[in-house]
Amino acid sequence: MRILRVLLAAASALSAQTLHIYAIDVEGGKSTLYVSPSGESMLVDTGYAGKDNRDANRIAAAAAAAGVKRVDYLVITHYHGDHAGGVPQLAAKMPIGRIYDHGDNFEKTNVKTQAVFEPYEKVRERYPHQTVKPGDTIPIKGLRVDVVASAGDSITKPLSGAGQPNPLCASYDALPPDPGENAHSIGMIITLGNLRISDLGDLFWDKEYELACPVNKLGTVDIYMTTHHGTATSGSPQMVHALHPKVAIMNNGADKGGSIKEWTTIENSPALEDLWQLHYSNEGGKQHNVAEKFIANPSAEDDHGYAIEIMAHADGSFTVRNDRNQFEKTYQK
Ligand SMILES: [Zn+2]
Repeated sequence: MRILRVLLAAASALSAQTLHIYAIDVEGGKSTLYVSPSGESMLVDTGYAGKDNRDANRIAAAAAAAGVKRVDYLVITHYHGDHAGGVPQLAAKMPIGRIYDHGDNFEKTNVKTQAVFEPYEKVRERYPHQTVKPGDTIPIKGLRVDVVASAGDSITKPLSGAGQPNPLCASYDALPPDPGENAHSIGMIITLGNLRISDLGDLFWDKEYELACPVNKLGTVDIYMTTHHGTATSGSPQMVHALHPKVAIMNNGADKGGSIKEWTTIENSPALEDLWQLHYSNEGGKQHNVAEKFIANPSAEDDHGYAIEIMAHADGSFTVRNDRNQFEKTYQK
């Protein structure tokens, strides 16, 4: 009995030191739940509105699986419907501690974006709210969350330990800048001890360039949460290869993101061991999708909205699990 009790205590101490991450399937939108070893939670985006509360229900299910009853820190990266649309439904379903965003809507003349921003703004008024700037942190206990981009600005100095020259900058292929909300996304680097994660919202190609060139201001990461769902106008080789991720998690839908160009950039990233996808990408076809066991939702016809879960530790090791088939794989630092 005594040994059992010691083992149980050791197991619970271990799980208490685990960062749980849920890449929630919001069908090509974004919603990622981080539950710190401290027990505090941060939700990055809320997926879509409508659809019979589909996305709010999936967020609540992930929170329940993680054992949290509220969202302590809600970060809204920008005001497109696939990120901020679900806020009113989430607020009706779960307590929220504090809301962080980039400030005002940069697409005031876009009727679709205003139709997302206005109801969001009404919800925001009811909670403590903070507009973040590059260099700020989100104060979730047990993690370090550095805001590296917000409202079109990016950090001017490298993060601690970063700032290496990036030789890939010489071969940068510029795209015309995006004036809209994507380019104004919040971007973050999340750190737990030796483990680093990049979560850059839908930052656009040229905005990532500011972070990656001429020196890599972000440093390397273990996990790359794909920028902009794996769309071809984000995730340049200059950014992705400089981040040097071991694992990438792609928040694509069947017909959203998951572009052949971006998929190839990620697969060619020098330290990459595995890319995991929330969906099979129709654009990618047979040649440009990962093996089915790494895909949470391989069939658009038989779609159950499975998540991809990550259990991460301060020593830099982590396990990724496909909630559909329970296939999991552990990565060491
Ligand atoms: Zn998006």
